[in-house]
Formats: sequence, structure tokens, C-alpha cells
Amino acid sequence: MSAPCVPMTAHVGAEECLDGECDDYLDEDGEPLGIDTCTHLDTEQACETHSTVDGNRILHTARWPCTTTDTTEETSR
Ligand SMILES: [Zn+2]
Ligand SMILES: [Zn+2]
Repeated sequence: MSAPCVPMTAHVGAEECLDGECDDYLDEDGEPLGIDTCTHLDTEQACETHSTVDGNRILHTARWPCTTTDTTEETSR
């Protein structure tokens, strides 16, 4: 049984940007802008099935199109 690959949009960038702690999240007066992602972050397509995600942090990103052909590495079963 093989899990189908599912595309997702992953954010990649510096840790402070992923954590929402860089200057881009604040305006000139230091007030939070309430944005989700700063301009430093790139987005890339990744395979959700074969990426390792811990909460909203991506530990391992499987690039899309996914080249992982089978699920023999999967240990969740
Ligand atoms: Zn995949
Ligand atoms: Zn940033």
C-alpha cells in the first residue's frame, strides 16, 4: 500500500522569519502588522506525504515534484 503524494506550499527561510520574529512583522513604530509571512520567506512546492512536519515547522522538505517513489521509509505503520 503506497501513500499518494500530496502537494503543499512550504515556506522556507531564516528561522526568525519562520517564527515571525524578524523586522518585517513590525511596522516602523514596532507595532505588529499582523501578517503571516514576511518578504524574506520563499515558498516552494513540497510533497506533504513525504515531508516531515512538526507542528508548523518543516523538519524535512520533500521537493515537489516528489521523487520518492515508494513508502518503504515510512515507519508510521
Ligand atoms: Zn511524495
Ligand atoms: Zn523575515
